[in-house]
Amino acid sequence: MRRWPLALAALLVPSLAWAQAPTVYHLRYAAPGDARVRVTLTLPSAGSAPVHFVMPRAIPGGYDQQEYDRYVRGVRAFSPGGAAVAVAREDGPRWRLGEAGDRVSRVEYAVDVDEMEREIFDASATSKRCDGYLGLLGYSVFGYVEGADQGPVRLEIEAPAGWPAFTTLAPQAPPATGRASADASSFYALADSQVVLGPRAAFRRVPGDAPLYLAVYAETAEDLTMEAAVAREALDRVVAYFGHPPFAHYTVHLELLRPVSPRHEYGFSMEHLESGTFFLGVDRALTPASVESLRLTNLFNYAHHMGHAWIPKHAYGVHYFPHRWEIAPIIDTVWFNEGFGRYAAIEAVADGMPAGEGEAFRALNLKRLQRIVDEAPPVIRRMSLVELSRVASVLYSKDFRTGMNTFARGGLMAAELDRRIRERSGGAKRLRDALRFMPGWVARAGRGFRVEELPGIVREATGVDVADIFQRWLPAPDAAR
Ligand SMILES: [Zn+2]
Repeated sequence: MRRWPLALAALLVPSLAWAQAPTVYHLRYAAPGDARVRVTLTLPSAGSAPVHFVMPRAIPGGYDQQEYDRYVRGVRAFSPGGAAVAVAREDGPRWRLGEAGDRVSRVEYAVDVDEMEREIFDASATSKRCDGYLGLLGYSVFGYVEGADQGPVRLEIEAPAGWPAFTTLAPQAPPATGRASADASSFYALADSQVVLGPRAAFRRVPGDAPLYLAVYAETAEDLTMEAAVAREALDRVVAYFGHPPFAHYTVHLELLRPVSPRHEYGFSMEHLESGTFFLGVDRALTPASVESLRLTNLFNYAHHMGHAWIPKHAYGVHYFPHRWEIAPIIDTVWFNEGFGRYAAIEAVADGMPAGEGEAFRALNLKRLQRIVDEAPPVIRRMSLVELSRVASVLYSKDFRTGMNTFARGGLMAAELDRRIRERSGGAKRLRDALRFMPGWVARAGRGFRVEELPGIVREATGVDVADIFQRWLPAPDAAR
């Protein structure tokens, strides 16, 4: 997979040195009021032209396309000696750097954050800039040189003097001002991280077991202590459910926003490797006057997206990872990511409640899932779960009927599996044991699971035969297609 410039590196550079040299991303936000950020990408060793610079269009778990290349301005490329080389825009989110004979070691460009925010209506998919605040989604501002995206990455951040500079790759509260830096294992880890700058953002380290940070920008009154307590409770419950965290620290990046326009939509959140972005309307702000139902809504939303740090970030089907950045991948197992992920969050939250209350919470949520399935229009009902999953891979929130029915069927399947496992094991095992087992299975296999491998995985983890349940929800012709 790492086809550039490995052949050259193998000849010229000791492999250990190659393996350790990072690609350096320098991110500069020059001054308050600037609509743009500037990025310089310096490769660990020069590539032979032409090489290709690519901006992401597909977010891991985004189930959609976002044309981040539209907001890239002034791409320039340079040789190791500092001479500019030719740059040509190609179809899609790509630029060709250099002519035959050139060597390329550095790429520079700017990203217009204001225009991105104006044009992308889904609040969870766009970076934001306001007076005294800049919130950047990694994949919306960082591109990569094709074939050179697997190695380690160094991120250097330069912010206006006195501005707090926070990265979810190496969170600190309070953050350093003016400058920050961090390391990432690969472009994926960088792209799936966030940068938060500015005096109007609030930062907290939330005491407790698994290290938890909050980075919050609120355009309304918000009780940060309450929010921190809810986030802590959600993280603790999810960690208790899955066993132990797959991250060294977790950041809740929360924005409570007033709409940019009537077409802008708020309320979607997004999971990441070691953070979650929660870009909500001001109606979701917690204050001492908030009703208990809002607290529970936020708790469940946190738990759901924190749970995604396990499912699907570390337990996933084929085609979810390695992630395809240029064109949204077609995934057969969105029902697993979103349905099993949702079921795990329901269980995690219910486990932390007094017994009767937990049962009621669980029953209410399953009833909601059943209602979605029962009320689906014929066009959705006729789709097999794998077909629905493939459609939802790109239309999940654009036509939320596909998203809802994918997670509803997946959640109900998970509930049925859980019942079977508890029954047949005399209560010794539950679906949780299978979900705890999966990240290790995926790590050992070095790939995502195939749908037809799931019964075997569950059996290995719990000793219970569930093949007939999978067969009913996922008839064989689809699985084999
Ligand atoms: Zn989700």
